[in-house]
This record gives sequence, C-alpha cells and structure tokens, in this order.
Amino acid sequence: MRVDVVTIFPDYFGPAAGVGGPLGVSLIGKAAARGDVAFHIHDLRQWATDVHHTVDDTPFGGGPGMVMKADVWGAALDAILSDKSQSSANPSLPWAATPSTPSASPVPSVTGARLVVPTPSGVPFTQEMALAYAGERHLVFACGRYEGIDARVVEDARARGMAVDEVSIGDYVLAGGEAAVVVIVEAVCRLLPGVLGNERSVSDDSFGGGGGSMHGLLEGPVYTRPRAWRGNEVPAVLLSGDHAAIARWQRDEALRRTAERRPDLIRRLAAADGLDARDRAVLIQAGFPVDGESMAH
Ligand code: SAM
Repeated sequence: MRVDVVTIFPDYFGPAAGVGGPLGVSLIGKAAARGDVAFHIHDLRQWATDVHHTVDDTPFGGGPGMVMKADVWGAALDAILSDKSQSSANPSLPWAATPSTPSASPVPSVTGARLVVPTPSGVPFTQEMALAYAGERHLVFACGRYEGIDARVVEDARARGMAVDEVSIGDYVLAGGEAAVVVIVEAVCRLLPGVLGNERSVSDDSFGGGGGSMHGLLEGPVYTRPRAWRGNEVPAVLLSGDHAAIARWQRDEALRRTAERRPDLIRRLAAADGLDARDRAVLIQAGFPVDGESMAH
C-alpha cells in the first residue's frame, strides 16, 4: 500500500530518515521496512506559488480564522496523483519525504487512489472503515489546519472520479489533521496482512473485524501473570483450560462492558439480530433493558 500525506508540518511525521517519527516505530515501522506500506510525506507549501509560500487566506463570508487555499491543494493533489511512481511499493527509504514535482498535467479522472480528509465535520472513523482502507492500494491524506480546507477541493476531487472520504476521529476539535492521520494510519496498518503476529487478535479485538467473537462489542478485561497480584486473583475460569467456558466468559464480560460504556453498540447489535438468548439473559442480569421498545432508544 502507498500512503501519501500532505501537510504544512512534515516534521510532525519525523525527520526525513524516519527515525523517531510516529510512523517509524513498532508494527507500522516494521511493515514499512518490509515494504508492505510506503509512506510519502509532502510539504504543502512546495505548491504555493508566492514568495511567502502562502497556503491560507481569509474566509469568504467573514468570520475568524483562515481557510486553506483551493489552488494550492489542487496543485498538490494533481502532482501526487500524476506521480508515475505512485504504484511502486518499497522505496529504499520508505520514510523519506519525497517531494513531488509540481505538475500542470491534468489528474486522471479515475485515479485508483482514495483521498481521506480528516475533519471534525466528517463521518466517524470506525474499525469497519479501517478494514476497508486496509484493502486499498493507495491512500492520500490531506491534513487541514486553521479553519480547514476550501470545500471546492473535495468537490473537485470527487468530480474527477476520485473516492473521497471526509472523516472525523472523534467529537472534539484538534488543531490540525496530522494527529488524525497517525490515528487512522495506525488503525489501518495493523490490519495489513502479516502485520500482527496473531491474525486472530483482529477478530477478538473490540469491534471485532471479520465477524469474530467480539463482533460489534468492546473487548472485556484481560489478564496475565502473576495469578494473584496485590490480593487480586485472576478470574478462575481463565485458569480452567475449558476453552468453551473461557469463550463464553469473555463474551459475557464483553456484553456487560459494552452495555455499560457503549449502549449504542448493544442496540445496533440487537437491531442486526446479533444477540442470542444467552446474550440477552446476560444483559438483563446486568440491568440492561433488552426488550424491543427500550432498545429502540
Ligand atoms: N473549523 C473546523 C470545524 O469547526 O469543523 C475545525 C478546523 S480544525 C481547527 C483544523 C483541522 O484539524 C481540520 O481541518 C482537520 O484537518 C483537523 N481536525 C480537527 N479535529 C478533527 C477531528 N475530530 N477529526 C479529524 N480531523 C480533525
């Protein structure tokens, strides 16, 4: 997979050699070193045409703050999407910032790339989306700053046949899209084939991609050695060796935790017919209303 990130703060992603950047460590760093993912970080200002490399201007209609300019973003996306090397994976230095040459050539109407624009006004980013993105060949992230990016940039990319998602990582406002990109890239990259040591952990994770045991639920509590710590014992069932009993206990705990912290997820699961009689009994015991009427709210 190729990942392009356009930002006015390329240093956010680490120095050119990648050492110390958030995309250069742990599972993602290893995936990049193997060539499973190639990151290209671009400084948006290289596509600004004035002497000050201006990327923003005052908003039409007034109001506080500045808006990022459509012409600069358009030039950046044109250059990245017409980069003939874009499908080549595994550059020798995957972290190296690769300044694309600004180009006047038109963007192909269908690019094969997906543009992801982080914004608090986007659709919520979910594990389902992370799974879908993990199947993409090329993701391009546009990091906004100030009051965001001129809306015509997204309209223009869509009109040219590009898949575009405006995505929020939560109901709060960050200063820029860079942190959101790190969040999204980390969620996506750990789902790439071969990145996680144990593929089962994906389906056993909270939200449980791929229809696993945690499908639509939060994962319950987890434990490791020692069996007793500061007077607290690990739940006996986990030491029983009875795999069916352990699986049931884990699902019960997941149901209880999800009902308490994310009742919206339980309602969604119920609406999708994802709760069996035992699940419902556990939820009723936990004080969660699972009858049809109250589930609807
Ligand atoms: N005026 C915008 C609004 O109210 O929707 C907020 C702009 S915010 C200060 C600047 C940039 O931070 C956004 O363009 C986006 O790239 C990023 N950003 C802020 N909050 C975000 C969130 N919750 N999810 C994703 N990106 C976010």
